[in-house]
Amino acid sequence: TGPHEGRIAVVTGAGRGIGREYAAALAADGATVVVADLDEGLADETVKLITADGGRAVARRVDVGDPRSAADLGTWLRGEFGAAHILVNNAAIYHSMRNDTQMDVDIDYWRRVFAVNLDGALLVTQAVAPLMAEAGWGRIVNQASTGAYSGLGGAYCVSKLAIIGLTQGFARELGPHGITVNAIAPGLIYTEATMVTVPPESRAALTAAQAVKKEGQPADLVAALRFFCGEDSGWVSGQVTVVDGFKTLRI
Ligand code: NAD
Repeated sequence: TGPHEGRIAVVTGAGRGIGREYAAALAADGATVVVADLDEGLADETVKLITADGGRAVARRVDVGDPRSAADLGTWLRGEFGAAHILVNNAAIYHSMRNDTQMDVDIDYWRRVFAVNLDGALLVTQAVAPLMAEAGWGRIVNQASTGAYSGLGGAYCVSKLAIIGLTQGFARELGPHGITVNAIAPGLIYTEATMVTVPPESRAALTAAQAVKKEGQPADLVAALRFFCGEDSGWVSGQVTVVDGFKTLRI
């Protein structure tokens, strides 16, 4: 038993990394978690890990950036559970932030990043929030990034800045239905994705630039997720919380 017993939670991009950690935390809190990922094999692995721990989870293939696929998720949820209470829009794609320039960016790459990172959160929210509205209760958490505040620009960081606008817009539109919409902006978290993009020799310096001298792990974000999804947080909406060991906004 936990605070989310009887609730249905959807986590996109939960096949690995941060999304997997979020899915496991919500399952540990009692929710039945829909592990929604483009990669079915990864989604199945997450489900196995959760069920081995005594949690409830089900894998569902979805391409968040594809309008049909996102809409299908909503239809499937209605048929399978008739409800949804928590949605974490976590799926995103990225390459190196520093090489993500704008003058010479390939427009197809630019559009793919926005299709997944921004349109994905829009489309999945459109598909899932009506079920929350019917219940008169919902918690939506979008995954931003401190990249949004980095001043670097580029497809990834601009998409993450846009996620903050999307969060505010949905907070305004869905608040009357008992649904809160917030965002978490993580700093550098070591996952399969960042292991590839961060050169090993840079790790020590990156950690030294944080006030908290510890490498970020997916588990370091779970407290913020639990706060935004909590029963007591119903008056907290449209907010972004930075979780980065205090690297940003420091002079
Ligand atoms: P990751 O690449 O390890 O995992 C992303 C997951 O999303 C994968 O399982 C992948 O299959 C899935 N995915 C990709 N495209 C998809 C699509 N179109 N539809 C459905 N699923 C799709 O990434 P991560 O490091 O765990 O990051 C997760 C989130 O956190 C992302 O939104 C990322 O931008 C954000 N973030 C990460 C960091 C970090 O340092 N790792 C920092 C700030 C923000």
